[in-house]
Amino acid sequence: MARAGLSAALVTACVLVSAAALARPFSDPRGEVSERIDQAGANEPRDPACHARKLVAAGGAAPRGRHTLAVRWIGYGNFELAYGGQVILLDAYYDRGSEFMPLGMAAGDITRANLILLGHGHFDHMSDAASIGSRTGATVVGAPITTETLAKQSIPAQQVRTVSGRGGELLTFNGFTVEPILGRHGEPGKHLTEVMETALAQLMPAPTAAQEAEAKPIAARGTFSPRVIDEGTIAYVITLDTGFRILYRDSGGVVTAEEKAAMARIGRVDLAFTPISADYINPMMISQALEYLHAYQPAVVMPDHHDAPRTMGHVPQWRATEPLFEAMKAEAPELVTVSKEYREPTCFNTEFNLQHGY
Ligand SMILES: [Zn+2]
Repeated sequence: MARAGLSAALVTACVLVSAAALARPFSDPRGEVSERIDQAGANEPRDPACHARKLVAAGGAAPRGRHTLAVRWIGYGNFELAYGGQVILLDAYYDRGSEFMPLGMAAGDITRANLILLGHGHFDHMSDAASIGSRTGATVVGAPITTETLAKQSIPAQQVRTVSGRGGELLTFNGFTVEPILGRHGEPGKHLTEVMETALAQLMPAPTAAQEAEAKPIAARGTFSPRVIDEGTIAYVITLDTGFRILYRDSGGVVTAEEKAAMARIGRVDLAFTPISADYINPMMISQALEYLHAYQPAVVMPDHHDAPRTMGHVPQWRATEPLFEAMKAEAPELVTVSKEYREPTCFNTEFNLQHGY
């Protein structure tokens, strides 16, 4: 009996040990290509912040690890980055109207943000920046045409920083730096947009009069200035205090001379948020995606600006990520690609980064 009791206890102990061995705070997507990253954190308890859809900015749990980065995509160019007790929002376009599938949160839910980086001043990138900025006290950064547009809205001027992206503008925050780099807005050819939009307008449901009325004040909180194209689109390189680098771009234009110069100095980035271009046709979208791959040489890519309204709108169709991922991986087999749904978290152990090797 004693022996049987002992074996039962051993079996129980083994089960407990193996359950503990399986536990880990989160699964870093780079674990796909790096056994060291995959093994890191084994035997540590699960981090709820890396499994919940609730934004840290809206009162959700912040990552437990000091060097854990939690990323959530929230439609279009919107991302939340939670790191080192800070909340960074990339773009601010949450209240999109009933034409869209619900994001599961509203601009008014956001109570906490330290920094808002605006990629450009079209309404579908900045319409909620003033309200969130003034409520949270976050610093809001954008190109001249973007901050001129903000100045017409209700946000204290001392919170707003204007950048040109032409160099010498490194911004320092608590636990990270931000380098603005002049990008360029997407410019899909007229021969393409006229054909596709005429066809789609015949096939897609039109927004109702109520939806059009709803969209008007949202659109009024952005700019339609042509300056957005060549002087109003900013890419940002965020460098965390571990050395982990993130590149953010929210419009699918060509890579600029300023970006090429910055990347020649920086080398590679650990994580790139790159837009899926508005070119409709897969070979053209792939060609733009490969230009980003060559320019930024990221370890991980997460797409942005690939969702769309349910009606015929300014972005009439969701843009598929898989054809781009396949084409990128054919050139860079070690590339890790991540495309999730609204607000699903992805966590990174940023102690592993390209600057320090892994
Ligand atoms: Zn735009």
